[in-house]
Amino acid sequence: MKILPYKTDSKYNYNHAIKNSYITNFSMYNFKDTISFSSAKVNKDDAFMLRNIKHLPCACCGKDMINEKDYVSLKSKDFQGPASQVLKKLRPYYKNMRQTEKTVYNILKRTSPKYPDADLNTLINKRLYYHIARLEAKQLQIINKAISSVNLNIKDQKALEKTMQEVHKILFVEPKDKPQKRNRILEEFYILRYQADEKNKIDKILKTIEKLPNSQNDVDSFIVKYAERGNREIGQRLLSPSLPTLDHIKPASKSGKDDFSNLIVLCSKCNNERDSIPYQKWFLIKPEMKKNIQKYMDKVIMEIKNKHLPDFEFYPASIKRTLEKETKGKYTIKID
Ligand SMILES: [Zn+2]
Repeated sequence: MKILPYKTDSKYNYNHAIKNSYITNFSMYNFKDTISFSSAKVNKDDAFMLRNIKHLPCACCGKDMINEKDYVSLKSKDFQGPASQVLKKLRPYYKNMRQTEKTVYNILKRTSPKYPDADLNTLINKRLYYHIARLEAKQLQIINKAISSVNLNIKDQKALEKTMQEVHKILFVEPKDKPQKRNRILEEFYILRYQADEKNKIDKILKTIEKLPNSQNDVDSFIVKYAERGNREIGQRLLSPSLPTLDHIKPASKSGKDDFSNLIVLCSKCNNERDSIPYQKWFLIKPEMKKNIQKYMDKVIMEIKNKHLPDFEFYPASIKRTLEKETKGKYTIKID
């Protein structure tokens, strides 16, 4: 079974594309995995000091993170006005950006001379329908691949056909520039799984559907999502995956402690990807973490030695202990 795009009206609805920023609070603490500072155990100043180390590598991917002090020094007005000027202000952070954001930065930079007065939002909207077309092609390819990979019984096949009608509506009946289509397609398949007799076969479909592009790993998806966001949100998003966030080695959801014996710094991108996957499994998914967590700790130890992190003398040994405990001795770090 295949789904093919309908011929849709070529006049798209631009109205919501020029809405301004959703964010009212210029803060990095909106990211889902940063810890809450309402906790009595984690001292806010200590957390700031740790995240504010210059050139601190992410304990997971090993890439330099953006210094927190630099990030908060960027004001709302820094993201307003002609995109070429905004991009110039963001230029010092280019080396810290993650791959998708680097590519978006370069696309905007290339496009801006054609529209010298356009701000970030306008510039993204100039590109929108090119990227929608590319995104749709990728989505279709993945969905068709997923559903052609299994043979279902008659009841489940009927349910799948119903699911595909919904997916079809999401992709081709609703306005082309409506974001969040990925999540809603996924939801339809989760419902299908819930209803199905042969859940293992639907799981096989889901495994492929979960590969639908998202704004973190795909430029087209990024452009479609951010076309309706304000200048500040677009600008912040170019930087936000590279921001330092505190990650619980033993997840908080599994009653991991909310103190520094259980907290290391990961970039926001890695932190989001990890979610609450146990570290023993996460090290297998990200084998490079074995050397990067050492690189991270070496940097922290140097900062402690240079007296930039008072009250953190306990930190390396306690992280070593937590890591060994959480991974049943499989992974460790050197701290001397
Ligand atoms: Zn990282």
